[in-house]
Amino acid sequence: MSSGFDVKDTIMQIKPYVPGESKMDTDKPIRQLAANEAPLGASPKAIEAAQGSVAQLNRYPEGGAVALREKIGERFGFPAEQLICGAGSDEIIALICQAFTSEGSEGSEVLYSQHGFLMYKISALAAGATPVSAPESDLRMDVDSMIDAMTENTRIVFVANPNNPTGSYSTKAELERLHAALPEDALLVIDAAYSEYVDAEAYSDGSDLVAQNKNVVMTRTFSKLFGLAALRIGWAYGSKEVIDILNRVRGPFNVSVPAQAAATAALDDWDWAMDAKHLNNRLLPAVTQRLRGMGLTVYDSVGNFILIDFSDADRATAADAFLRSEGIIGRGVAGYGLPTCLRMTIGTEDDMDVLTQALTRFIESESA
Ligand code: PMP
Repeated sequence: MSSGFDVKDTIMQIKPYVPGESKMDTDKPIRQLAANEAPLGASPKAIEAAQGSVAQLNRYPEGGAVALREKIGERFGFPAEQLICGAGSDEIIALICQAFTSEGSEGSEVLYSQHGFLMYKISALAAGATPVSAPESDLRMDVDSMIDAMTENTRIVFVANPNNPTGSYSTKAELERLHAALPEDALLVIDAAYSEYVDAEAYSDGSDLVAQNKNVVMTRTFSKLFGLAALRIGWAYGSKEVIDILNRVRGPFNVSVPAQAAATAALDDWDWAMDAKHLNNRLLPAVTQRLRGMGLTVYDSVGNFILIDFSDADRATAADAFLRSEGIIGRGVAGYGLPTCLRMTIGTEDDMDVLTQALTRFIESESA
């Protein structure tokens, strides 16, 4: 398609990201399970901090998010000067693609796995780079297939760990093997948006690789566990060189005052975050088992969502429509190459009861 403007060809190849829906015309109470948001909201202390920060809306934010970076550094044990904050980790993904690729079809390739998070492809195309996807096995990133897909033009390799929408994770050993195969002038990005939920022994959020290597960066977010999606706030940990490059392309005031204030307070209210994690990690296996008990295929997930496979695209569409008629908004993932599946956020205990009951009725309606 031509716009009549002289924009990069790759921009016209972008299929715009379709966010999970949040509204529906129904008189049933709405269960918003489409966007992997925190069902209990944000810490009351974070809300209070955001509210308290709006008295001086005429003032620009602190551009370098210094206090927040120091707080993140303290909480997670990283040097503040190796951190950068962004308007969501989406912005950081975009900045990485902008900074670490060059334009042109003969130019840079951005590699990710088959069902990897969609913003890698969109941000690669927006930067004028060529997106390349490597087949997965059993809905998991396959190191050998990623290595096979690497070329001398590979500039960035993205791995979501855990991945959205599959819920699967890569082990520390797999990330190390992937990194070892990467040329030194290419960047490995470990997108650890859901890392706070994961307790698996073999898991790594990639921070150990960042500490040892110049060409690894880990991205994180306050949108999931910390419940601050509305404020758009994420961060990354990388080598001094990588952070310096990203700071050159970052907008000078990219993170708003309320976002910085709320994120700082959220990190101080660690018990709140841990309660949210424990609720998720109790409900996740319980709902997985219940749905499997009803004969549904539910993939193992370590995030705050599950992927239900209805084996057939029409059946997945029918299930989605049925759930919507019951006020439950899930997420179709055909755009991820998974047309037979629906992704559902782990909500409150009540949300999960309503979801299981509705799916029971859906299955009954099929044989009626
Ligand atoms: N990475 C992954 C894997 C995600 O699922 C998301 C949210 N959908 C993001 C990054 C971006 O999150 P945010 O921009 O809200 O930080």
